[in-house]
Amino acid sequence: MMALFDYTLDARSGHARAGSFETAHGTIKTPVFMPVGTSATVKGIRTQTLEEIGAQVILANTYHLSLRPGEDLVAEAGGLHKFMNYPGPILTDSGGFQVFSLADTLKLDSDGLTFRSIYDGANIRWTPETNMEIQQKLGADIIMQLDQCTPYPAEYDFVDKAVELSANWARRCLAAHHREDQTLFGIVQGGMELDLRLKSVELLQQINDESIAAGHKGFGGFGIGGYSVGEEHEVMFETLGLVARALPEDKPRYLMGVGNPTTLVRAVGEGVDMFDCVLPTRTARMGTAFSSEGRMNMRNAKYTHDFTPLDHACDCPTCKNHTRAYIRHLVKQNEMLGAILLSIHNLWFLIHLMDRARDAVLAGGYDEFLADWMNSPAAKDY
Ligand SMILES: [Zn+2]
Repeated sequence: MMALFDYTLDARSGHARAGSFETAHGTIKTPVFMPVGTSATVKGIRTQTLEEIGAQVILANTYHLSLRPGEDLVAEAGGLHKFMNYPGPILTDSGGFQVFSLADTLKLDSDGLTFRSIYDGANIRWTPETNMEIQQKLGADIIMQLDQCTPYPAEYDFVDKAVELSANWARRCLAAHHREDQTLFGIVQGGMELDLRLKSVELLQQINDESIAAGHKGFGGFGIGGYSVGEEHEVMFETLGLVARALPEDKPRYLMGVGNPTTLVRAVGEGVDMFDCVLPTRTARMGTAFSSEGRMNMRNAKYTHDFTPLDHACDCPTCKNHTRAYIRHLVKQNEMLGAILLSIHNLWFLIHLMDRARDAVLAGGYDEFLADWMNSPAAKDY
């Protein structure tokens, strides 16, 4: 009998892992791509459609939801699952990334963050404790610690201080978190500096062990934050695998905010289990499809008379029912259905890419899967 938030390693192939993570709203099979529903909606996609396209877990954003409609209203509805009528697992980020990316209104001190709302300019104060209170009211299955995400490039000493501050806040988040039906993930920071990344991992492990020794809960998993902040892809891959594999074997590893298909396939090969990104839906709203042939700009005139499916290799509801010519027409006319159909396809593409990655791990052939991908036309846009 599996207990809540147990992670089982189902198989390993090289460094790639296939796992099962138990939540109160279902088991998450990893590796997994999580669609992003910033404001409690994956833009343009009904929750029933998310189930239909195989989404296992979705992400919502604490920054936006705490400002609009506010965590008290979501709690009044019975939590995020009831508010948006989504029965599966939900993850909320802490919102720290959004606060730091709006740095011109931010005051950071050792105790917390003071910033202005993007909606009405109101002064907001967050500490690790108040952030936990907000995320407990939102009621997601997986919640993230408040942390300090550093930009790239950044001075070594600045990144070092952010690692220590984030670890301090991780300890405070763990102490302030009490919901039994939720689990808290710690977040590894450290920029592109391997020694600071490993220091961050070690501090989080100490905090985890101290908490358990004191009879309290530990972390249910670990986020790897602070990558994909403007550095070249190869800079991340210099350290990502070493960081992922420094984390405990028996917890899921979540690379935050990364959604390029090739990056996902490579990161699974380095031992990462979970991903989220707005890329598939944002790209869709700009009229672009991911496909087995690489990215397709659906505004292109070459699709005008093309009455074949968007992607011949895809079984998604969009590709089963609509032609390239129709989608091009919708995109050109700014019809909302164009963005919706492309969002469905792009989400399916990443969700099923991770399903295929899982199958390859279970079959013991991840190296071949990775090599096949890197040699495929789809990898050429990387
Ligand atoms: Zn499709």
